[in-house]
Amino acid sequence: MTTPELTPMMRQYRALKQRFPDHILLFRLGDFYEMFFEDAELGARTLQIALTSRQKGEGRVPMAGIPHHAAEGYIGRLLQAGIKVAISEQMESPEKGKALLKREVVRVLTPGTVTDAAFLDRTRNNFLLSLWVAREGIGAALVDIGTAEFWVGEDAGKSQAFVDALLLRQPVEVLAPSTLPQDAPLLKRLSEDGTTITARDPATYQLRSGQELLCHHFQVQDLAGFGLGGMTWGIQAAASALLYLKETQGDALPHLTRLQRLQTHDAMVLDETAVRTLELTETVHDRSTRGSLYDVLNQSLTPMGARLLRQWLLRPLLDAKEVSARQDAIAELIDAPSERDQLRRELGAIGDLERLTSRVSIGLAHARDLIGLRESLRALPELKSVVSRRHSTLLQESAAALVDLAPLQSLLDDALEDDPPVALHGGRLIRESFDQALADLKREAREARAWIAGLEARERRQTGIQSLKVRFNRVFGYGIEVSKANLSMVPPHYLRRQTLSGGERFITPELKEYEAKVLGAEERVRQLELEIFENVRASVAKEALTLLRAARAVALLDCLQSLAEVAASRGYVRPLISDDGVIEILEGRHPVLEALSDRPFIPNDCLLDGQSMQCMILTGPNMAGKSTFMRQVALIVLLAQVGSFVPAREARISVVDRIFTRVGAMDNLAKGQSTFLVEMMETANILHNATAKSLVLLDEVGRGTSTFDGLAIAWAVVEHLHDSCPGAKILFATHYHELTQLADRLHAVKNFHVAVREWNDEVVFLHKVRPGGTDRSYGIQVARLAGLPRPVITRAKALLSQLEVGDLLGRRDPKSEAPAQLGLFSPLPHPVIDELAKLNLEEMTPLQALTLLAEWQTKLKESS
Ligand code: ATP
Repeated sequence: MTTPELTPMMRQYRALKQRFPDHILLFRLGDFYEMFFEDAELGARTLQIALTSRQKGEGRVPMAGIPHHAAEGYIGRLLQAGIKVAISEQMESPEKGKALLKREVVRVLTPGTVTDAAFLDRTRNNFLLSLWVAREGIGAALVDIGTAEFWVGEDAGKSQAFVDALLLRQPVEVLAPSTLPQDAPLLKRLSEDGTTITARDPATYQLRSGQELLCHHFQVQDLAGFGLGGMTWGIQAAASALLYLKETQGDALPHLTRLQRLQTHDAMVLDETAVRTLELTETVHDRSTRGSLYDVLNQSLTPMGARLLRQWLLRPLLDAKEVSARQDAIAELIDAPSERDQLRRELGAIGDLERLTSRVSIGLAHARDLIGLRESLRALPELKSVVSRRHSTLLQESAAALVDLAPLQSLLDDALEDDPPVALHGGRLIRESFDQALADLKREAREARAWIAGLEARERRQTGIQSLKVRFNRVFGYGIEVSKANLSMVPPHYLRRQTLSGGERFITPELKEYEAKVLGAEERVRQLELEIFENVRASVAKEALTLLRAARAVALLDCLQSLAEVAASRGYVRPLISDDGVIEILEGRHPVLEALSDRPFIPNDCLLDGQSMQCMILTGPNMAGKSTFMRQVALIVLLAQVGSFVPAREARISVVDRIFTRVGAMDNLAKGQSTFLVEMMETANILHNATAKSLVLLDEVGRGTSTFDGLAIAWAVVEHLHDSCPGAKILFATHYHELTQLADRLHAVKNFHVAVREWNDEVVFLHKVRPGGTDRSYGIQVARLAGLPRPVITRAKALLSQLEVGDLLGRRDPKSEAPAQLGLFSPLPHPVIDELAKLNLEEMTPLQALTLLAEWQTKLKESS
């Protein structure tokens, strides 16, 4: 790319840029980071800053700059936009006459490798996903470098469940071999969600060398110890991820000490549809956290607790013993409110111990990070003592993990200044009392400064020039300023340095000497402080594993107290986890609606036993509360398996392997899918994958097409689930009242309705679920509530009455031979009936009548 016309600096820029073609290169120029060429255009557009251009030897070069001191915010915005950033710094200080300073890329930031708190949401993991797609299967690794989580998995069938498990972690960056086409379905899907795609050299995915790399890094002979024995594609993906992290973050990464096997069936399976429609972590309509289940349950006080709670909600447990361990801890915390308060106070003082420790390990932590760590450590002993007094297993285990870190805390107390700057090169990091050499240097600088501070008064006395001033200037250093009127009084040892508008600037050899002392000592202080700081940071890094263990214990405690706090304040109860296949909820409530609405919530019961009570067909008017009821049952089951208490008077929950939802219809036009297609795809997924242990929510299936098509599909879906999936528990809300006939035909299907009361042509919503079906939707009354114009309501009522008597819009063609459209489940008139109607009995003998009767009977038998 280099051309002879390039200036030396541009040549230097080009050389650096060549190594980071996919990144925006921030090129340090004095107090600015400059972007050039396409980077400048992209950067200016993304950051909404001015795009300029300058002559740089080869024509005009587009440029955009961000001030060095405010770079953090700008870099954060680039990362959020999915842009990777390489930061180059000047590696030598500017000296006179030096035309070109040495520059190097000192940091590479990508959305999936960033650890700075300023760029991250503290309540979410920040996962980097690495993929390897073979013909027969798929391998994946998910790494959060900030929390030291490293998951590895593979799936021979490339199943949707495996893909869902990856998508649920919402990776922010994906590594994929460059040979994998960008429009491969999973990559396409991820990039539509705004995930950064990073193409990797396929050579980084080699199995043999990958295995060696991982074994070497994790210091094991064999990866089987991590449960990865026999794995291939997963290991290839993991190796490429580890290499990428080493390339961008440096070789060490000592905090990454364990691999965990990523499995799809070790937790309740929740696909994206279920997570979205149950609004577990964000609402459907504006994707905000407010109004989600997570929002209501999150009373956590630390970032680790908030992140763990999110993980718990997305991976409810299957093992009743694990559930009951969480329940025991929560019960204990509910019963001890004052201890819980104390626990909350201590937790409130703890920062992001997990990410801070990771930053220390990678060597990125600055002094304020260490202060954050120090303050967090301060709370641990008290936290431990509160928890040690409790008895349940999880609380005891957490207490044990909170080992004594007092020496580390003392080190940080003794070493660090209380309010250090973020920059590491400017001093003010280390307490003078911590190091004798530092104290000596600082004293030297202080004394020299004091000498200079007293100089003005001394010189005024000695020269008699009362307006004489000693001033510091960044270019010329210290100087003695004398106004024009007093120049005649200047003593001969003053050396003239500069002419000012109103006088002259002088130095003396002595002043020069003290100036050198001040500046030299200050520079040495800065260097020494940096050195000491790095040593202190290295001492902290040695304790990284203990710190991470403590951080995980804090996360667990925070999560448990959060659930206890919510249970105590909202009157949740401990559900009984049973294994008899029954879900029985007495007076259940919707956890989010009851928390966010000012109106009282009407509780409802639910019994599903997977046998005689397998499927609830739920009818009732619009707005009655059908969807609310179904979701509340699903959320209560989910909460129970998270280990949480539940909003009900009493609950008995049998563990479900999966919650399926088909709720509401959402167009996905951008993906070229119609509402009805999406609806049917989701329904197909349920029919293919539901098992005897699944909970299935079907809301308005078939609504997206014509009435008869929709009704027929809905009917067939219920029949299929009933016949081929015994045991599965199904909640089916519908406006097709004909479906209530299913209860007469299928033994495990039962009708329920959400009751309303009619009063003066108005409907009063009772929100009460009762046995039996209903045959009205009250859609017109609801339309009136919604404010449809009166004439439209009146006309709709008239049309409805005509429709109800079968007179379709009153315009049926009397000449038409075609029969009126029949109800789907009213039987078609049999030809025998026609014949009977046409018969002239008077012309028949009894024998003829008998023969005809026998004929009809045969016909009827054949046709049935
Ligand atoms: P549609 O058939 O029109 O979709 P729906 O029967 O599914 O209606 P929901 O959307 O569940 O009705 O409920 C409508 C509103 O009624 C809710 O937003 C809520 O405000 C209120 N509601 C539902 N159930 C209850 C309840 N048990 N207690 C109090 N309010 C409720």
